[in-house]
Amino acid sequence: MVRRVAVVGAGVSGLAATKCCLEEGLEPTCFERSEDIGGLWCYMDQAEEGRASIYRTVFTNSCKEMMCYPDFPFPDDHPNYMHNTRLQHYICKYAKHFDLLRHIQFKTLVTKVKKRPDFSVTGQWEVVTQRDGKEETAVFDAVMVCSGHHVYPNLPIADFPGIQKFKGHYFHSREYKEPEKFRGKKVLVIGLGNTGCDIAVELSTVASQVYLSSRSGSWVMRRVWDNGYPWDMLVITRFRTWLGNILPRALSDWLYVRGMNRFFKHENFGLMPLDKTSRKEPVFNDDLPSRIACGVVVIKPNVKEFRETSILFQDGTVQDDVDVVVFATGYSYSYPFMEDESIMKSRDNQVTLYKGIIPPQLEKPTMAVIGLVQSLGPIIPTADLQCRWAIKVFQASLFLSSLPQRYGSSTTLQTDYITYMDELASAIGVKPNLLKLLLTDPRLALEVIFGPCTPYQYRLVGPGKWNGAREAILTQWDRTLH
Ligand code: FAD
Repeated sequence: MVRRVAVVGAGVSGLAATKCCLEEGLEPTCFERSEDIGGLWCYMDQAEEGRASIYRTVFTNSCKEMMCYPDFPFPDDHPNYMHNTRLQHYICKYAKHFDLLRHIQFKTLVTKVKKRPDFSVTGQWEVVTQRDGKEETAVFDAVMVCSGHHVYPNLPIADFPGIQKFKGHYFHSREYKEPEKFRGKKVLVIGLGNTGCDIAVELSTVASQVYLSSRSGSWVMRRVWDNGYPWDMLVITRFRTWLGNILPRALSDWLYVRGMNRFFKHENFGLMPLDKTSRKEPVFNDDLPSRIACGVVVIKPNVKEFRETSILFQDGTVQDDVDVVVFATGYSYSYPFMEDESIMKSRDNQVTLYKGIIPPQLEKPTMAVIGLVQSLGPIIPTADLQCRWAIKVFQASLFLSSLPQRYGSSTTLQTDYITYMDELASAIGVKPNLLKLLLTDPRLALEVIFGPCTPYQYRLVGPGKWNGAREAILTQWDRTLH
């Protein structure tokens, strides 16, 4: 019987885990190394070791109706896309509303998670924590790993010949906070992800010139979509997902590329992804195309070589007098507290998880990694549903077919949002039955099918049902317009 659950981290995933455990009558203890909840969204002026670090002007890419906890909508007066401080405020209200704080041990670092000697029978874990230099060990029936995935910088300097000779300053985007100290400088940003684009656009307001280098291009989408509505309210719908699944692949790829190019032709801006039909997460930036059009951000191919003060690119062009290079090259996954990291990672150092949640090598499925899968959808509702699914697995009310050996092959971490959410929801009996809904509540059914797949849909029926879900769905456009 699983009763005591250790939750590592009190970011949005850890809070979802704590709340879902309580909902199911379990006893969660959430360990948080810092002094506050919110994880990544709890802005700090300095990057702190072992914690994600964001820049001052981070805004969300998911709108409020799509990214809320499924039983806790944002208030009307919040804008559709939020500054990090506003999201942090919401996260605090969520924790207070569900009385989560008393289950969190702050300033407590999880230093070790290891299987108990009788793990193959009990599935229990030993969790070692450190607080004020004091070490404690406790036994838990299950562990939910919510420690975040934007913590350990990926700085691939070995791939950049000559970097040792370079006399300018270079650093990982994790260290970037605000633009002022780059006033008048020539800056190269490497990496065309969300962070790279945000930093390039922001620096272009103060730097003398910004170059943005990309190896493989990227689709760049706008937050403000057709008729000014939030992109995700229009794009992430059941109807579109269904169309994408039934259309022949060639037609669906053609429509996808056409949709991505609707606001500007990526080829003309040097942004065209090498693999244009891959559904890799696009970049969200409303300003980048206009910054490129104004010449303040110049798109460059991959760097071939660094020289003392200049940089040679793959296309043979050389940029002189570059002062600063920002490596917006993403993060590596790491779980330093796992006694045996190979529980999560395969031989080639990739994280492989069943349904993007359960480490496949375990004799007993009593560990879950929350918030790691990547999709076009928002993380908060994904984490909420992952936690509910994982708890059913812990409680053995959801049986998994035996592990890859036991659990079949591990799934990729890149996934389609609605397909993935529906898969988890079906398994635990919380996916709305569309046919039944059409017959019993056609107004709601039409909104569920053709409207945005908002998180409330996964709290309409079944275990964990929220009585406000129907009303929240029917009023979601009102809150958006407000
Ligand atoms: P984190 O927020 O990183 O929280 C992890 C927590 O675990 C931290 O508080 C940390 O202190 C704690 N911790 C770690 N290790 C230990 C340990 N050993 N012991 C104790 N505590 C520990 N997603 C969206 O859905 N929409 C967006 O608009 C969006 N924008 C983003 C913008 C940026 C710049 C970035 C980097 C990411 C964005 N994301 C977005 C994705 C983001 O990952 C999630 O929104 C989310 O914040 C991740 O939450 P988390 O709880 O999984 O991890």
